[in-house]
Amino acid sequence: MPVKGVTHRYPDRALWYLSHVCAVYCRFCTRKRKVSQSSQTPDGEDWKQALEYFKSRPEIREVILSGGDPLNLSDSKLDFLLSELKRIPHINQVRIHTRYPVTLPMRITPEFCAVLRRHFPVFIVTHFNHPKELTDFSREKIRMLVQDGSATVLNQSVLLKGINDSVETLVELFYGLTSAGIKPYYLHHCDEVYGSAHFRVPISKGVELMKSIRGRISGLCVPLYVVDLTGGGGKVPLPAEYLEEEKSSSYVFRNYRGDLYEIGY
Ligand SMILES: *Cc1c(COP(=O)(O)O)cnc(C)c1O
Ligand code: SF4
Repeated sequence: MPVKGVTHRYPDRALWYLSHVCAVYCRFCTRKRKVSQSSQTPDGEDWKQALEYFKSRPEIREVILSGGDPLNLSDSKLDFLLSELKRIPHINQVRIHTRYPVTLPMRITPEFCAVLRRHFPVFIVTHFNHPKELTDFSREKIRMLVQDGSATVLNQSVLLKGINDSVETLVELFYGLTSAGIKPYYLHHCDEVYGSAHFRVPISKGVELMKSIRGRISGLCVPLYVVDLTGGGGKVPLPAEYLEEEKSSSYVFRNYRGDLYEIGY
């Protein structure tokens, strides 16, 4: 954290924690040691320092508003922050990570969407874990984000044992997201969080689940399965292995049905 509230781990993007408060508190949350500590919430002086930091680092091409939930801030504060960020010439895109479309959909209002539209384009990454969370009310609000806010909406999910660790549930979730207007972006392996061991499935099972899904359903519906390396290593993808053998002048692949194909280039 170069300044309070900012994590700059990857070269070109910085995560900016604007609030430590959420509408619900998730047992698997990777930041649960920090969320709900409202006294830690950055104030106006911290914002100024963060904005100075972003301005002084031309390698930062993206700022991600995160938390807790950044939609805790009022529309006028978000409007101010988005205008400040969009004024920095080297910032290529702004993203907002929020669970409110799931946990407090009534926060998505025409006024909030007007703010988003003013700062087009804004990318919203939300967090649905189960098809049951895709209620009619949530779907209506996603539609409002896309139509009135001109936002691009993506989703990250956490793979949770006994909740969504089956092909049927994940396929229903990914189709459901796409039909709501959301592109599935990441499926996270459950982080090493105190008190959440019972939610973790083996990585090999996660890889197998994704292998059964890829190829069967549209690529538009398929997120990338990733693990965030504890200790600041960042996220790495967990791809399934399709290349069976590399010969001197050909490659042997096994496709999603389990059939072998040898190609010569
Ligand atoms: C996840 C994460 C990001 C965003 O990574 P993307 O792969 O671009 O979605 C940025 N900074 C930190 C610290 C993160 O954990
Ligand atoms: S809404 Fe997000 S930040 Fe808040 S507790 Fe849940 S996972 Fe953590």
